[in-house]
Amino acid sequence: MIADKISVRAKNIKPSSTLAVNKKAAEMIAAGEKVINLSVGEPDFDTPDFVKQVAIKALNEGFTKYTDSSGIKPLRQAICEKFKRDNNLVYEPDQIVVSCGAKHSLFNIMLAICDDGDEIIIPAPYWVSYPEMVKLAGGKCVICRYNEHFKMDIEHFKSIITKRTKALILNSPSNPTGIVYTRQELEQIAEIACKHGIIVVSDEVYEKLIYDAQKHVSIASLGDEIKKLTVVVNGVSKTYAMTGWRIGYLAAELPLAKAIANIQSQTTSNPTSFVQKAALEAISADQSFIGKMVEEFERRRDYILSNISPLIEYCRPAGAFYLLMKIGNMSSTQLAQKLLEEEKLATVPGDDFGADGFVRISFATDMENIKETVKRLNRFAERIKK
Ligand code: PMP
Ligand code: GLU
Repeated sequence: MIADKISVRAKNIKPSSTLAVNKKAAEMIAAGEKVINLSVGEPDFDTPDFVKQVAIKALNEGFTKYTDSSGIKPLRQAICEKFKRDNNLVYEPDQIVVSCGAKHSLFNIMLAICDDGDEIIIPAPYWVSYPEMVKLAGGKCVICRYNEHFKMDIEHFKSIITKRTKALILNSPSNPTGIVYTRQELEQIAEIACKHGIIVVSDEVYEKLIYDAQKHVSIASLGDEIKKLTVVVNGVSKTYAMTGWRIGYLAAELPLAKAIANIQSQTTSNPTSFVQKAALEAISADQSFIGKMVEEFERRRDYILSNISPLIEYCRPAGAFYLLMKIGNMSSTQLAQKLLEEEKLATVPGDDFGADGFVRISFATDMENIKETVKRLNRFAERIKK
């Protein structure tokens, strides 16, 4: 009976497959099965101790009340300094809204920009939550095809722009492919966005997880016109191994930042008070922790790439900590199911990422697991070849 009363909007939403597989794998492991969990994307490193100490101190000092709903000013100031330092972007603290994770920032943005039926372009393969957020906000997802490098097919992008196109969601480095757009490619995308007045929601949460001595470029930094159209999203989850703390943030032109701040002030209010102090410390302290973590991720990626069977088709990740791959010729769900049942590897089916036939693994797990994973994947690929 009550099921009939659930809104169409809620009924149309799929549960997050990344979180669902993670839950299933955790249950199997708890039941004693030797499953390697390669599903959820979160650093296996612990949050740095100096960050934890700041949260403990803030708690002990009674920093436990409501704060400014967009985040404490010192944190928004530190975020402005981070944008200047890392991305050569100048923002004022009023242009920053701090939320409960970048996921929350992204949803706030969708609520603030989508009128019913507005079209949001999402390049495949995409992070599972983008389409669902757009739908929740009343928008319409328009998927952009990918080319042979797993990057946006620019001609297709141009062809799907209509009068209803409101925004493009760009994600570099990308989840689930690990592709990284070059400055030149971003210039091309920016030019099209400017020509049509399309907002670019630039999800840069994997900014620091980038390999082969490349440097991340924020599309917003390519000129004044594109900066005005861009909402930059970032957070502390991946960069500082703080996924459970729930802090993300965005920077936008003032009217949009204010609209988002209003939405947040009427829904969640501020992100957790003492966690904001910890995030402030993470963002402004010595950043050498990141380098060590990235070096380790790169070592793991290199191990996989040097040892994976040629029978496995994959997208070479230049950033983030995912490998999107295909083995044989089956559907994503079938492949993920077989890998779980036959090799005890928990992967996420690619269809929810807009990559049918693929599965995604996260290599944010220790080297021992990585070596065992490659062994099992290669064995599986050999077996199904026969
Ligand atoms: N964007 C992308 C592409 C992601 O993979 C994630 C992963 N959680 C997020 C945003 C959200 O991160 P969080 O909410 O933990 O800041
Ligand atoms: N972004 C990570 C992933 O894709 C975390 C889980 C989630 O929020 O989807 O696995």
